[in-house]
Amino acid sequence: MATGVRGLRLTTRDGEVTGVRVNIADGERVVPAGAIVLATGGFDYAPDLVRDFLRGPLSRGVGAPSNTGDGLRMAMRVGAQLGNMREAWWSPVLTTPGIRSDGGRRGLLISRERALPGSIMVNRYGRRFANEAANYNAFGGAFHHLDESKLDYPNIPAYLIFDHSTVERYGVFGNPPGGEVPDWVIRAATLDELADRLDLPADALRATVDRFNTHARAGMDPDFTRGVSAYDRFPGGRMGDPDSPHATLGPVTTAPFYGARVESSALGTKGGPRTDRDGRVLDVDGDPIRGLYAAGNVMASPSGMVYGGAGGTLVIAGVWGMYAGRAAVQDQGRRAG
Ligand SMILES: Cc1cc2nc3c(=O)[nH]c(=O)nc-3n(C[C@H](O)[C@H](O)[C@H](O)COP(=O)(O)OP(=O)(O)OC[C@H]3O[C@@H](n4cnc5c(N)ncnc54)[C@H](O)[C@@H]3O)c2cc1C
Repeated sequence: MATGVRGLRLTTRDGEVTGVRVNIADGERVVPAGAIVLATGGFDYAPDLVRDFLRGPLSRGVGAPSNTGDGLRMAMRVGAQLGNMREAWWSPVLTTPGIRSDGGRRGLLISRERALPGSIMVNRYGRRFANEAANYNAFGGAFHHLDESKLDYPNIPAYLIFDHSTVERYGVFGNPPGGEVPDWVIRAATLDELADRLDLPADALRATVDRFNTHARAGMDPDFTRGVSAYDRFPGGRMGDPDSPHATLGPVTTAPFYGARVESSALGTKGGPRTDRDGRVLDVDGDPIRGLYAAGNVMASPSGMVYGGAGGTLVIAGVWGMYAGRAAVQDQGRRAG
């Protein structure tokens, strides 16, 4: 086994994949193989592919920066059929200072913080634009709303706004109730001051919070139905009554007020070479390309545009890894015998 080796191109003979050209310390070399399983992740760090294929903006990646679509390009060069290319595991991400050891920018998924009582998200115009507690993948759709008059994506970037009651009662960003709020979070004594510091229109932010507060006190969200689904109520419900809409709906009233910028991101893209149910990569006519298999985010995901729940991405990668490996062994055995 070799690690730290970059696959560059597939080698073929008579339409069959016979190996892979790799980049190693002292140059390039071809590794012959009876079967190749592509498992190079998505193309979230390939700006050209992101621009040309995804259904809406991906402002920043949050997965491995080495996911530059190499496997997709390898598959395209040998005539693979592509599928699900518009899709990614969309997620709102809050950028925090510093660089990770893999060279990527640090980020937080904020799935908990945006669903807690006393917390909302607003767009650049200071308006709420979605059910903040929705699952992260579905939330991507709210980022991709296009203002057709201004030809602008008004919800990118967005801002997470929360008050001190959220901090006291639940704790944020991994800290316990009443714990610290990291110093990269903008804070202010009033909503107007917070709006000023985040460069948001103060009148709009105040009106948004007033409206949200009136409804939150009554345990309802007529604008975006937050709190109707058990999913919405889960993060706050773990520390209270999970059946109450107040597990996610609470007014934003207690100073200091906090805010941070949130980007449209994704855990990874999930379009690529289409496979059969055993992970065999198909060509443009729907026939298997002999010797080529794919698993994980590099392949056209069987999940389409949706997210099935916790572990939904890793399970697909693991299951198709097993299918692809099994099919590769069986196919080789059949060819040999
Ligand atoms: C912050 C974060 C949190 C997540 N949380 C969850 C969760 O709770 N549950 C869940 O189910 N999923 C979660 N995911 C998603 C999950 O991690 C991914 O969907 C999954 O890792 C995809 O697996 P993969 O093997 O297809 O790709 P990856 O894990 O991205 O691995 C691809 C690998 O291929 C390597 N590679 C790329 N190009 C080449 C090349 N040319 N040659 C050789 N190697 C190459 C890359 O360096 C990378 O190591 C999370 C993702 C992130 C970023």
